[in-house]
Amino acid sequence: MAREYAKPRIVEHREGMLNKFGEAASTFIDSIEGVKVASLVKEFGSPLFVLSERIIRQKYNAAYREFSLHYPRVQFAWSYKTNYLTSICAVYHQEGSWAEVVSDFEYERAVRLGVPGEKIIFNGPYKSYEALKLAAQRRSKIHVDSMEEIFALERVANELHRPVEMAIRLNMDTGIYPAWSRFGFNLENQEAYSAVARIQSSGRLLLKGLHCHQGTFILEPQSYATMVQKMTLFASRIRDDFSIKLDYLDVGGGFPSTNTLHTQYLPGVQVNPPIGKFAEVICGELMKYSGMFERPPLLILETGRALIDEAGSLIATVVARKRLSDGTAAIVLDAGVNVLYTSNWYKHEIIPAQAYSDIIENTVIYGPLCMNIDVVRPLMLLPGLSSGDRVIIRPVGAYNMTQWMQFIRYRPAVVMVDEKGSVHQIRRREDLEYMNELESIPQHLLGKKPKARAKKG
Ligand SMILES: *Cc1c(COP(=O)(O)O)cnc(C)c1O
Repeated sequence: MAREYAKPRIVEHREGMLNKFGEAASTFIDSIEGVKVASLVKEFGSPLFVLSERIIRQKYNAAYREFSLHYPRVQFAWSYKTNYLTSICAVYHQEGSWAEVVSDFEYERAVRLGVPGEKIIFNGPYKSYEALKLAAQRRSKIHVDSMEEIFALERVANELHRPVEMAIRLNMDTGIYPAWSRFGFNLENQEAYSAVARIQSSGRLLLKGLHCHQGTFILEPQSYATMVQKMTLFASRIRDDFSIKLDYLDVGGGFPSTNTLHTQYLPGVQVNPPIGKFAEVICGELMKYSGMFERPPLLILETGRALIDEAGSLIATVVARKRLSDGTAAIVLDAGVNVLYTSNWYKHEIIPAQAYSDIIENTVIYGPLCMNIDVVRPLMLLPGLSSGDRVIIRPVGAYNMTQWMQFIRYRPAVVMVDEKGSVHQIRRREDLEYMNELESIPQHLLGKKPKARAKKG
């Protein structure tokens, strides 16, 4: 291949320095799930999200096994906001997962996908009255977030002429700071107890479960032990005071993927606790208290990122290379923070997708936006790449295909490689047609020439 001309440069080589944690420079990877990067780009363009159905199923089953080994009644509910592409949700539902939704839109999407009402968990700080009523009619698992939602459900129960089953979201001190106290009812200040008292006194609402999602990318499994302990003690208190018998405890999501946070020194693959560790702690703690219940409560998990992150890769193309004024190497990719929201939090792996021979040096990786904040990686060791070269960015399966922005550029296509290695486009690239579909232009702005300006003076 003909090499592009680049200005000669002098780079300091450091020999013999001890670096216990140094990683070998990665070689290139030119295929994903057995499919060549070059052929994927040829057919679907660049940038391109690629999801592996095999990894999704494998991760799901491995996680489910970890929990069901330690506890008799386990149910997973797929966190839609983590990745709600319909094909992705369909894979999880095929595996037996319920849906966990946090908005009217996500609720509608789950219904449209054929998820039975009672297998949809409806979370989130804002649910419209209409959506709450529909969810109650379908007997979904409604988790109230505020007093207002309790009042709304009382109204719904009146309108339906029957009691409505529901659960409440709790927030509490689990030793993770800053604690998320904005969602649900606080346990320590008795807000949660008051909410239960109100639910009980309404006579029209039946409290069936307790929910807590303490945060995300939690690196301390022990915090879940604290959570389970506090939840079960609260369950016993409301049983004694109000004769409430709960069916389930929902510990939310929050387990980390193998991604590496900007604040982490060592790679996430090495230091983030695996899901089995969390399973052990959560189930172990729950078993301690299970005698308290007539029947062990159903344990619900709303795991998002830890189940899907590793199944997703992003193929991107180098569109330019530069030297910054201080001599630092830089490349510009065709994918930036517009499609890779998680680059705000993570040092993703970025791997060349073809053989290279240039030296490896610290490089800044920019995206394609005409915005100074569009940085995919502030600095990483990378060989000199030329325009047209491809890279694979991973893991990116969680929170990118939902948080991506239609900003400046079209959002790219998404493909899924099935277990047999066949490639399916599960979302096409956006185009002008799609962009214009929602807009309309008033008649008086159509087909007119520029206004003649009045002459000055
Ligand atoms: C986002 C969210 C989840 C999933 O969280 P992860 O950290 O991705 O596992 C689960 N439950 C609720 C209520 C959420 O808001």
